[in-house]
Amino acid sequence: MNNDTEETIQLTHGAGGQVMDRLIGDHVLTTFTKKQAGEIGLDQLDDGATIDLESGSTLVLTTDSHIVKPLFFPGGDIGRLAVCGTVNDLAVMGANPVALTSSLIIEEGFSTSTLDRVLGSMEKSSKEANVPIITGDTKVMARGDIDGLAINTAGLGVVEKPISDAGMEPGDKLVITGSIGDHGMALMQYREGLTFKTKLHSDMAPLNGLLELARESGEVTAMKDPTRGGLAAALNEMANKSGYGITIDEESVPIREAVSGVAELIGISPYEVANEGKAIITVKKESAADLVNALRTNPLGKNAAIIGEVNENRPGKVVMRTEVGGRRFLEAPLGDPVPRIC
Ligand code: MG
Repeated sequence: MNNDTEETIQLTHGAGGQVMDRLIGDHVLTTFTKKQAGEIGLDQLDDGATIDLESGSTLVLTTDSHIVKPLFFPGGDIGRLAVCGTVNDLAVMGANPVALTSSLIIEEGFSTSTLDRVLGSMEKSSKEANVPIITGDTKVMARGDIDGLAINTAGLGVVEKPISDAGMEPGDKLVITGSIGDHGMALMQYREGLTFKTKLHSDMAPLNGLLELARESGEVTAMKDPTRGGLAAALNEMANKSGYGITIDEESVPIREAVSGVAELIGISPYEVANEGKAIITVKKESAADLVNALRTNPLGKNAAIIGEVNENRPGKVVMRTEVGGRRFLEAPLGDPVPRIC
């Protein structure tokens, strides 16, 4: 029953920021009761959950729905996104992805040749990541009941030592595997038909190979993929959960010139929009340089950089040392400013 005072779901409830966090906290976590099958469960709100088997091994399970608009855009499409997004959620948990599912929800009247293009892209990305799609589901909704196509993928991985997004410790260095804002700004540029010197492309890519390199190269304490809400949302979540503070240096954060250009033009911060081929890694100070060097040997990590450190100065907060020498808080956005981004 609807009345004027009843709260309803808004787009920001799905935008990966503070508003979504409140929805999950007030509704999902208070309703679902049995939340753990291993060390990391629903309450931790990590990129996936762990399952401890009696045999002694640990699995990681994750799921992600994809509703990006438009379905095809520079640098990717919904099919590649559905594979990479889920592979990356497993990879940032420290897992080796083993298999994916593919659940398609299709609108009546959708072109089968377009569907073939999407499926072909999923297959290509699955080969690139070396993670097979082994089961799935297909549903069709009446015309107008859904906008074209939505894809849910779940992913299963195996892990020796799960890496949570809350594990960072004071003294750790904070590393980003490459430039930020590419996915969100590429989508905005394409959607808005903005002409700018450089055409932007989404950064979407499967990161499992790159992050395996990272795990081998040094003592990684936490990892997270800065998707919806961008670097700002992800860093705040990591600071909040760990109870430590993060300080980053604005000038060391890699941002492409074209990304800053579009960002300025439309008034959206590159720190607050989604990335689909980047990871934040915290690592023991001693192995930070080795980690960056290892990442840079892989094309997906060639612009990797140390951008800050973990400390006890402002627990739960992210402080940015600005290029002009000031300091300000980098706040988590209420939600990603770009809707239907992933
Ligand atoms: Mg994630």
